[in-house]
Amino acid sequence: CGIVGYIGKREAYPIILNGLKRLEYRGYDSAGIALFDGTDIQLCKTKGKVASLEEKAEKNINRTGNLGIGHTRWATHGIPNDVNSHPHYSNSGDLVIIHNGIIENYGSIKKELLNRGYTFKSDTDTEVLVNLIEDIQIKEDVKLGKAVQIALNQVVGAYAIALFDKKKPNEIVVAKLGSPLAIGIGDDEFFVASDASPFIEFTNNAIYLEDDEMAIIRLGRDVKVRKIKDDIVV
Ligand code: GLU
Repeated sequence: CGIVGYIGKREAYPIILNGLKRLEYRGYDSAGIALFDGTDIQLCKTKGKVASLEEKAEKNINRTGNLGIGHTRWATHGIPNDVNSHPHYSNSGDLVIIHNGIIENYGSIKKELLNRGYTFKSDTDTEVLVNLIEDIQIKEDVKLGKAVQIALNQVVGAYAIALFDKKKPNEIVVAKLGSPLAIGIGDDEFFVASDASPFIEFTNNAIYLEDDEMAIIRLGRDVKVRKIKDDIVV
């Protein structure tokens, strides 16, 4: 299981795909990618190898764009299949997330979200998390980073996550508890990965998040790292 992300001026697709190949050693059963092509999210995912993802992506999606996230999955909730593979959309289709780890209390959160009218395509704990974030974003009228922080304070489990909002395609939000997450800092470009191997040829300036830390990575600005458990000012 591994995660990769890119935001900057280069084409995101080859960076993410090569990054996923470098993370294959971590083990996985499925792979997927979401790119922002300037207008919309291009999403492709599949059970099986990164090579199968590459084949499928080359047939099915527009692979241009300077923002994207990619994932290799080791299934914990929901069998390994195309639908359960990451990335996962929120109900609006605006947010897209990748996640390594487990959301232990996803059952009760899912119940609550179902009551509020949310629907789910997959059996994963991850799709519950992205919809919890969306629900908070709408209900509390807060920015993505704040919504992620509030959501993670309601979650029990372990995670490395990365997500973006297609309405704000200048930003990736990441968080870590229990699973590794590194941020590579280039010249107005940023990389996200489970370890530095996906971005080692682009930069040797990296931040390794500690447990219980999240980061807001926005173009044109320094990476903002904060404690997930710090006071939440809405
Ligand atoms: N719990 C998530 C799932 O089953 C993430 C698994 C992983 O770490 O890849 O989809």
